[in-house]
Amino acid sequence: ASADIPIMVNDCSGKMGRAVAEAVVEAGLQLVPFCLTGPGLQQNVIHVKDVHIHVHEASEKEVILDKVIEMYPGVIIADYTLPSAVNDNAEFYIRRGIPFVMGTTGGDRERLVKSVSDSGVYAVIAPQMGKQVVAFQAAMEIMAEEFPGAFAGYKLKVTESHQSSKVDTSGTARAIVASFNKLGVSFEDKEIEMVRNPQEQISKMGVPEEHLKGHAFHTYSLTSPDGMVSFKFEHNVCGRSIYAQGTVDAALFLARKVQEKATKKVYNMIDVLRGGSMR
Ligand code: NAD
Repeated sequence: ASADIPIMVNDCSGKMGRAVAEAVVEAGLQLVPFCLTGPGLQQNVIHVKDVHIHVHEASEKEVILDKVIEMYPGVIIADYTLPSAVNDNAEFYIRRGIPFVMGTTGGDRERLVKSVSDSGVYAVIAPQMGKQVVAFQAAMEIMAEEFPGAFAGYKLKVTESHQSSKVDTSGTARAIVASFNKLGVSFEDKEIEMVRNPQEQISKMGVPEEHLKGHAFHTYSLTSPDGMVSFKFEHNVCGRSIYAQGTVDAALFLARKVQEKATKKVYNMIDVLRGGSMR
């Protein structure tokens, strides 16, 4: 039963890590009461719902993982750390033979996929764990493949709003733009309008004030050359629960693949979506 699958979340004291840890408990899965954090440990124990999690610096990772493997056989790791930790963490999990869900963005992605592929360890790697957002992204890609040029001559306007700490353009917006390009729309990534000013986020994008520190609002508007037709696609995410829930689904999917001894080892969120509901 899925309730028997232990999930270790690194780092439960980070923003995404905490959201994932909460989703793990809410889904009725077993949250491993140990986690690894970056340098500058703030708290030795943190509480996620009823679970007391012992937090250890990454410098202790070997000892902690020995303990976790012994106490929680079949453990799956969910990693939400920092771009600078992606490759080292992945290679560490691989050395220990532990399947993992890599939600952390950045790092050397090519090296990441290669190290997993070469190892025979199972992993889901996805910079966007929001299942429904990934499904929308895939649908746009399918539309572009099926009907190239269908929107030729249309004018596109893309606006994306995220918490002001996000410095780069949204990778999801860039992926959608690539599909619009195939549909015949001429548009460059640098034309994507990034909204990072809180005042503008409220007045222009309609972001609720309590979500200024964690949201992803995207609008894609298309207008026909004669101005007589318009299309608008929008996906507005508040908070982090969509990614946390997607991560739980990815972990359940991975547990099934391990159990089935599947030949394919590296997966993304489209594979998880194709796997159907796991709960
Ligand atoms: P955060 O700064 O709140 O948390 C990161 C935590 O990682 C910190 O507590 C830090 O101490 C810890 N850390 C650093 N190095 C570590 C190491 N070697 N081992 C263990 N812990 C380590 O950041 P966040 O907002 O939680 O975001 C984390 C990552 O998740 C980012 O890369 C972000 O882009 C990504 N993210 C992905 C998705 C998705 O859908 N895949 C969604 C949201 C965020």
